Amino acid sequence: MSGKLIFQDLSSVPLQPGTLYLVATPIGNMEDITLRAIRTLRDCDLIAAEDTRRTGLLLKRLGLVKQQVSTHKFNEAKRSSDIVSRLNQGETIALVSDAGTPGISDPGLRIVEAVLDADLRVESVPGACALIVALTVSGLSTDEFHFCGFLPVKSGKRASRLSDLLKLPGTLVLYESPYRILKLLNELLEAVPNRQLVLARELTKKFEQIHRGTAEEILGLYLNKKPKGEFVVLIGPATELPMNKPSEDVR
Ligand code: SAM
Repeated sequence: MSGKLIFQDLSSVPLQPGTLYLVATPIGNMEDITLRAIRTLRDCDLIAAEDTRRTGLLLKRLGLVKQQVSTHKFNEAKRSSDIVSRLNQGETIALVSDAGTPGISDPGLRIVEAVLDADLRVESVPGACALIVALTVSGLSTDEFHFCGFLPVKSGKRASRLSDLLKLPGTLVLYESPYRILKLLNELLEAVPNRQLVLARELTKKFEQIHRGTAEEILGLYLNKKPKGEFVVLIGPATELPMNKPSEDVR
């Protein structure tokens, strides 16, 4: 993607002083960034980034050189007061996470709370979010869905959380790491062997795959290979019957 090409289309609407902008960035495909996101990153006074090196690569692609400050889960509380104080001086700050929408299984909430507590403005610059991408391609019901982020890692808490979640109506959407995805599928095989599952892997990337089927059918795909990449797991409503046969979309 050429940053220069896009820049001529950007409007010159000024950012509003004293505002925290939550800027969504791509979750894979680097074209998935809005013109408004690029303009906000270009025009803000400071970028608060989960990982300044990673955001640095995005900025380089966009042809931008900007001041960044690292804002991750270990310094979010302390960083909030610096951000509030800079916003109080009329600065504009863009908050970005490594990928997707800040605050969704990513740092952001504490900063948003601190900014709102200080009676300052928070504005969203929306864009990619893995849960919405996965849900909309899944074919599962979108009338009611519950996004549950990552399950706890420790087995006791994990089992009770999963059992509570499986009682909810509607579609469940979970994030899971490649190291625990088979564990989760085995837990689902045990708990809800007949529910319709969708495994959305490497969304928006070159090797995107969407697998649909029961837990047993999806586990069958990993008999001889190790799961790699990023995954969203969707569990269809209890009332939704499993499809007749597993299906797969591969990009
Ligand atoms: N803030 C991000 C968002 O808006 O979706 C989520 C960040 S969370 C730390 C990372 C998790 O999101 C991954 O472990 C995976 O479960 C999911 N994820 C992010 N990008 C993905 C992708 N391209 N394909 C599938 N899952 C993805």
